[in-house]
Amino acid sequence: MRRKLLAAAFLPVGAVLLSTSALFAQGGIPLGGNPFQGWNDKTIMMFSPHPDDDIIGCGGALAFLGGRGNRLIVVYLTNGEKGTFDPSMKSVSLARIRRQEAAAAYRTLGFADAQLIWLGYHDGELDFASARELRVRLTHLIRRRRPDVVFSLDPGLTYYRYHYRDHRTTALAVADAIGAAMWPLLFPAQGISAFRVPDVFYFYTAEPNLKLDISSVYERKLQALAQHRSQFPPANQHYSAQGPLPSRSDLEALIMPLTGGTTTELFRHR
Ligand SMILES: [Zn+2]
Repeated sequence: MRRKLLAAAFLPVGAVLLSTSALFAQGGIPLGGNPFQGWNDKTIMMFSPHPDDDIIGCGGALAFLGGRGNRLIVVYLTNGEKGTFDPSMKSVSLARIRRQEAAAAYRTLGFADAQLIWLGYHDGELDFASARELRVRLTHLIRRRRPDVVFSLDPGLTYYRYHYRDHRTTALAVADAIGAAMWPLLFPAQGISAFRVPDVFYFYTAEPNLKLDISSVYERKLQALAQHRSQFPPANQHYSAQGPLPSRSDLEALIMPLTGGTTTELFRHR
């Protein structure tokens, strides 16, 4: 919990979440089966504002999707290079560390060949990127990769109150790009045709319609999140290359408030 208080005090730290335990009306969402377990040979695109939101929100779903010919493309909108309290850490070093951690997290989840794309926006400053440029880049990425399914943050009705600024900008811009990608006259570019994304799963949602039981892969999700060592004590206070892995309680403090203390993940599927 201490970490959440710190997070609230230092908002530019992008990796952490606000306390969201009040967000989700757990009672009304039934377990919704597992739409991911039978998927083969799919192209999956994940959009994440920072390296670790992807694992916090969808690590379990992704663990179910590993193997069976599924291909994963992860798009990180920012470098995550401000997420530290370590006074001796430099942004350029943290950006490098976080790239390594993101790759390690996907190896742990079973996606050793995940393609990680870094759009390179500054952590905490996505609001100040050109709204049009951001949407054009995302629209072209979607058209080029033509995913069977997209995971991104939910820009639903209540998102604005709960998301950090990089989160709300990612949520809006990706949803806009998913919509724009299917209109051929919108943001046209040579050689890439319009594309309608068949399936979208929004995470960090206040309006879930899918509650996924991840009990069988929960430990793997924790192990994947633990690869983001720079974001947890003691490394977020004093980073060292060979430090200990995060504690289970520190890992779960980021996961459990999202799901009311259950080993589930919540999505709004459209
Ligand atoms: Zn984040």
